[in-house]
Amino acid sequence: MQPSARYTGTPVVPGAGYGPVVRPAPVVADDPVGPGAVEPDEALIRFAVASESVAQRLEQLSSVSGGATAEVLAATAALARDRGLAAFVRRHVECGADVVAATRAAVAELSEMFRAAGGVMAERVADLTDVRDRIVAGLTGRPGPGVPVPDEPSVLLAHDLAPVDTAALDPALIVAIATEVGGPTSHTAIIARQLGIPCVVAVTGLADVATGRLVLVDGDTGEVIVEPDADAARSRVRDDRASREQVAAWRGPGRTRDGHPVEVLANVQDLESSRLAALAPVEGVGLFRTELCFLDSASEPSVEAQAAVYAKVLSVMGSRKVVVRTLDAGSDKPLCFVRHREEANPALGVRGLRIARDDPGILSRQLDAIALAASGAPGPVWVMAPMVSTVAEAAGFGAAVRQRGLVAGAMVEVPSAALRAAGLLEHLDFVSIGTNDLSQYALAADRMAPTLSDLTDPWQPALLQLVSMTAEAGLQAGKPVGVCGEAAADPVLSCVLVGLGVTSLSVATSAAAAVGARLAAVTHQQCAAAAEAAVACDSAEAARAAALRALGG
Ligand code: PEP
Ligand code: MG
Repeated sequence: MQPSARYTGTPVVPGAGYGPVVRPAPVVADDPVGPGAVEPDEALIRFAVASESVAQRLEQLSSVSGGATAEVLAATAALARDRGLAAFVRRHVECGADVVAATRAAVAELSEMFRAAGGVMAERVADLTDVRDRIVAGLTGRPGPGVPVPDEPSVLLAHDLAPVDTAALDPALIVAIATEVGGPTSHTAIIARQLGIPCVVAVTGLADVATGRLVLVDGDTGEVIVEPDADAARSRVRDDRASREQVAAWRGPGRTRDGHPVEVLANVQDLESSRLAALAPVEGVGLFRTELCFLDSASEPSVEAQAAVYAKVLSVMGSRKVVVRTLDAGSDKPLCFVRHREEANPALGVRGLRIARDDPGILSRQLDAIALAASGAPGPVWVMAPMVSTVAEAAGFGAAVRQRGLVAGAMVEVPSAALRAAGLLEHLDFVSIGTNDLSQYALAADRMAPTLSDLTDPWQPALLQLVSMTAEAGLQAGKPVGVCGEAAADPVLSCVLVGLGVTSLSVATSAAAAVGARLAAVTHQQCAAAAEAAVACDSAEAARAAALRALGG
């Protein structure tokens, strides 16, 4: 049977769900029954009471949630208590607006400021709108927005979802989510990921799909199919369940089905994330982002203080390898104790290894601290520099690391490093490809710009070609070449990377089992065929489709 409609969006949580459509209760936009004219002081008291009650409800939900969901809910509660919001409401009330109109106008103003700030702030507009609707519901005595609890497994379609609604979902009853707005880092995506509910965002046209229609949401391909062939949809859901079971059962070590070894490692940034990694079946840490340990440090921590921080992570990982990255300060991660100059274009400025140009002491003291921590560590410690661009930089860094008895490497994040990987490897023991930055520099597209995400898509054949060149240099030199950017966390793409010659994959701990299980299901030969097919394509979409075909779907 032909589906009656097919929509495509951005897949953010893999998996498939099939069922009748449910939608959140509509929000009433007009306020025919206002709270009545009151004195400004009383209006402000009403606003304070309503907003505080919204904040408390969100905090209570946060306290019974875990991980990212709890953080998102706490942050939304803080929006309800935002002093700027209260000040805007006061101004509108003092100018004569009733409290509901004042709340709407204040939120509109604040939303405009968030949108103008762009990036993560712009993504918070949805949370702010939800806070507004809940406060207005409190002020007018109407029921607040919310998702109905269906009596059979259903698919939730919405324009957008508030954290409080998403966090309260029962994955047994809401088997998939699709929204018209949102991005990979929106709160809907973060919470759906934590709940394990397949999710697609940024799907245009969803408003046309009526409640009750049968829909298949595919969080791998980004498709939302209305009235699909029922047997095919059920079989897609069954396959998805089977592969989830394989993921849950994966225990490592990383191997293709025919036994080709590929290290599956974890990305960490502090003691807490390393504790999680240590519990997972990963073979070690492939990227320890040290700069994230010191985002709040006003002054440079002493060698001993730094060593103590690193030593804790090394000790948690026991005998497993840890790849420590030196400070990647600058651009989107400025550190107070690094003297960053004003730069017109910080992503192309003094960041990563380049901070040692202005202040070589910062790097040498950090290497001393890593060496000190490594001297008492139970497992191997490798050290790599971010943003290496030339062979000379690799040589200087390699010598400084080896002088301290440590294993030296570099990240390949700049196209020049990929092009000259053989030269870099003459001075180093390994390299690790940072696909997040490598794609931003290869495609000249800001990795933070949501509207350019098609260019920074790690399936871009140009990026794959740079990975291929780097892996080839590693193969020739007989030295390991890892990938530690987000590309490695896509299970299908991870097979392509292995086919290109990559020897390790370092991913968020939560993604490690999916990557390991997918590798365990394919042969090295299939990976090589998928890699060859993907690199030969002219677009990211075609590369993904070609790789999937070569891997057998
Ligand atoms: C990368 O650029 O791919 C990388 C892993 O480094 P970061 O994301 O920390 O810039
Ligand atoms: Mg990077």
